[in-house]
Parts: sequence; structure tokens; C-alpha cells
Amino acid sequence: MTEKSTRRETASQALLAGKLDVEGMDDVLGLYRDLFELNEKSSVGGENRRALTEEEAQMRLSEGFTLIDPEEMVPDEDELAVMVGQVIHVLGRHSEDSAALLSDMAGLEDDTARLRGLARIYLTEGEEPLRKNLVSIEGVNPEVVMFVLFNALKRPFLEAAVRCADVDTSSWEKGHCPVCGGEPAVAYMMGEGGKRHLICHRCEAHWRYRRLACPYCGHENPRESGYLYSEDPDYRNLSASVCSQCQSYIKGWRIEGDDLGSAHPEVEDLKTPGFDRAIEEEGYSRGAPNICGVWIGTITEEEAEDA
Ligand SMILES: [Zn+2]
Ligand SMILES: [Zn+2]
Repeated sequence: MTEKSTRRETASQALLAGKLDVEGMDDVLGLYRDLFELNEKSSVGGENRRALTEEEAQMRLSEGFTLIDPEEMVPDEDELAVMVGQVIHVLGRHSEDSAALLSDMAGLEDDTARLRGLARIYLTEGEEPLRKNLVSIEGVNPEVVMFVLFNALKRPFLEAAVRCADVDTSSWEKGHCPVCGGEPAVAYMMGEGGKRHLICHRCEAHWRYRRLACPYCGHENPRESGYLYSEDPDYRNLSASVCSQCQSYIKGWRIEGDDLGSAHPEVEDLKTPGFDRAIEEEGYSRGAPNICGVWIGTITEEEAEDA
């Protein structure tokens, strides 16, 4: 087995083991598991795309460009239609009301040209411009469409990271992903002195980043104010780095030794929304969604409005 497929295998095991740290949300974990499984199926395209040479890769990085051009990530209409259909099918299995799910999509799932346009907005401009665009489409639930699109694009993102897996990204000093430009979902501290690594919420690539700087706004936080911990022994290796500038936080796991082994911080992130809630209650918010495109742990919009 290659190192990459071994990592996917141990990630799958991590996802299947244990449960969420919040009562009564086990079906969310079931949804994450099914989405993970979806990405293990055979590819729908993109595998013919050429890998960069090391020289081309280093040139792009040194000029501040991500390894993959966002435009290159936009799938063709047929590919996207298949992937969107699969994600809606999975989501439908985990929805109490699948008719409501389709009504949230407002027919977008059949309008592949428009879907592709929306995917392009997301890939080239980002999540906020996509949300703004969706808000203007009558009948659409923006959060549902964004979740579906994100997960429909997951496999192309993972494939992009595989194509770039051998590139040395140590010269990259930015807070966003050197492969695809995505924001980090989580961090981990490993090796001598606890060097910090980030994991992209989109393509799940790993890269090194300064220990005390906020990856979302670049602010250098003073050592003494930057961390929140929990007393709960279940979270003994987990902390949140908080930013006094942009009020965002990133969860970080302390890894013993010099190797991740079978540890998967990006999967542990999915299983610890209760920790997110505790940090959110301190007045901070996540800087990026988890690897399934979900922003928050347990506080739904309705609950936030009621509060
Ligand atoms: Zn990425
Ligand atoms: Zn910040």
C-alpha cells in the first residue's frame, strides 16, 4: 500500500471509531462517514491531469501562487452533475425530510450550467461571494447548496492534493493552503519544539506555519494570550489558538513524537464539536469549516437566534 492510501485507511478507521463529544448527534457522524466513503469510490475524472514538475512547483510557490490554479479545479458539467447527485443522495439518507432537502435546492441540481457557474464562483472568488450569489436566487437555501457543492468538489480537491503530494512546500509561509488556497481546518504541533502544521479544509494537504501567528489574518499573537484549553481529560491533547485581532480560533492537537502515525487531527475535529461550542462561548468563532464544509459544532442558527 502506498503511504497515501494507508493514510486514507487509518483516517477511515479513526472516523469509524468512537463517537461525537455531544449527545444525540450521532447521525451527523454517520453523514460524515458516508461522505468519506463517497470519496473512496473510483474517480469521475481529473486523474489525467498532469502533475507539476518540481521546478514548476517551486516557481509557483516562490511567486505566491498555489500549486493548483483555481480555474483548473472547475469540473465540467457532467462531472459536477454526477458528484452533486451523489452528495444529495447521501444527504437525503440522513435527512428527516428529503422533500424539504430538494426544495432547498430549488431545482439547481438539474441546472448543471448554473451549478458549474456557482462552482466557479466558489473556486475562484471564495465562499462569501458564493453565499451572496445564492441569497439572490429565489427559493434556494444557501447553506444547503453550499454544503452540497463543497462535498461535490471534495474528490477533485483530494485528487489535486495527491498530485502535489511529493512537492516540497517548506518555502510556503502563508496561512492558506499551498495546493488549493483553502483555509486550514485544524492544526497540530509535532516534533522538537512542537512545530505547527496546518491541514486544509478542502484538499486536506498539510503545511508548516508559524506557531503564534493567526493563519486567518496573519496577526502575531503574544505567547501568553494565544491558547484556550479544557479541563476535561478527553481533550488533553487539544487546545484552541485564538486570535485577538480577528477573533477566530483554530483547534490544535499535540502529537507525541515525530510522526503522525495513525493520528488524524482533521477527523478528530469532526468528532469534537462540543469543544468548538466551549470555545465559541468564549466569544471566538472558527476561522474555517471542518473537512466536510461545516462551520460550527453544535450551535444551529435557530439556537443562536433564540439565545
Ligand atoms: Zn488545500
Ligand atoms: Zn486572526
